[in-house]
Amino acid sequence: MATTGAKLAPPLMGQVFDGPSGYAGVAATPEWAQEVKRLARERNATILAHNYQLPEIQDVADHVGDSLALSRIAAEAPEDTIVFCGVHFMAETAKILSPEKTVLIPDQRAGCSLADSISAAELRAWKAEHPNAVVVSYVNTTAEVKALTDICCTSSNAVDVVASIDADREVLFLPDQFLGAHVKRVTGRENMHIWAGECHVHAGINGDELTEQARSHPDAELFVHPECGCATSALYLAGEGAFPADRVHILSTGGMIDAAKAAKSSQVLVATEVGMLHQLRKAAPGIDFQAVNDRASCKYMKMITPAALLRCLVEGADEVHVDPETAALGRNSVQRMIAIGNPGGGE
Ligand code: SF4
Repeated sequence: MATTGAKLAPPLMGQVFDGPSGYAGVAATPEWAQEVKRLARERNATILAHNYQLPEIQDVADHVGDSLALSRIAAEAPEDTIVFCGVHFMAETAKILSPEKTVLIPDQRAGCSLADSISAAELRAWKAEHPNAVVVSYVNTTAEVKALTDICCTSSNAVDVVASIDADREVLFLPDQFLGAHVKRVTGRENMHIWAGECHVHAGINGDELTEQARSHPDAELFVHPECGCATSALYLAGEGAFPADRVHILSTGGMIDAAKAAKSSQVLVATEVGMLHQLRKAAPGIDFQAVNDRASCKYMKMITPAALLRCLVEGADEVHVDPETAALGRNSVQRMIAIGNPGGGE
């Protein structure tokens, strides 16, 4: 029996192929999990997995969490290589906060429709139309957009970030229109311009579906991620009494885990990406967690397959690079975010 990584990797690696939805061909067997852990040790790497990852990727990871929490773990980890199982902007954020570390993503094609809704060129043009505005960007943005941003925010501290800005200054809020609408409603701020971006997954969770679920599960609590298109209708339903206000919780993904542990109902409806159900069910096994929309699955997150992770560890690819000047500017906007309110963990 072979005993070194170089000798053990080829049999499983030989099964990897590049398919239409990313790398495929390897099942998440105990042999695979053992091999992943051994290769990670050999590279002195820590494996981080976002809450929306496939269950088998979450289970093999050293840490599971939301994007900001994982970036902080990356910065503090003793290992010099970070394998980031998430989408590209998240791995970039980890690189921005840990420029001296090697950051790998198992498939660099794992993008994000929300981050892609605004480019650096579009933001430059928008800023030129509002030269005195303060730019607030949700963390789901590319490194280049972060570099053009004054303050980043998460869903947990977006309201505090906007409220911290001088009332006379215009605010450009991007890229999520639903989070923007939520912040504008709560702060009552009129001089706030919102970019019309959206995540295709969250936008697919709509009010009609939520209304139907609320009526057919009258005793359930409802966890809503503010990036969902259904946040407005959830609050509206609560206001109407269709869903008791004390059972509606607008939460970041990290906040959902804490709320799950404290939940009093035996059933919770969850309005966000379906990968979140895995961690919630682990955190509170006695509760029946149901997706508001079980088709709300992010195809980019699911590109981090067992085959992609294996290939990443064998080949040391794909490495994430952010040029030092962009990283320094982006780091400033991320650090301002961390200093305001309770930033929670981002998506
Ligand atoms: S769920 Fe939406 S916001 Fe999150 S990574 Fe996927 S596309 Fe981006």
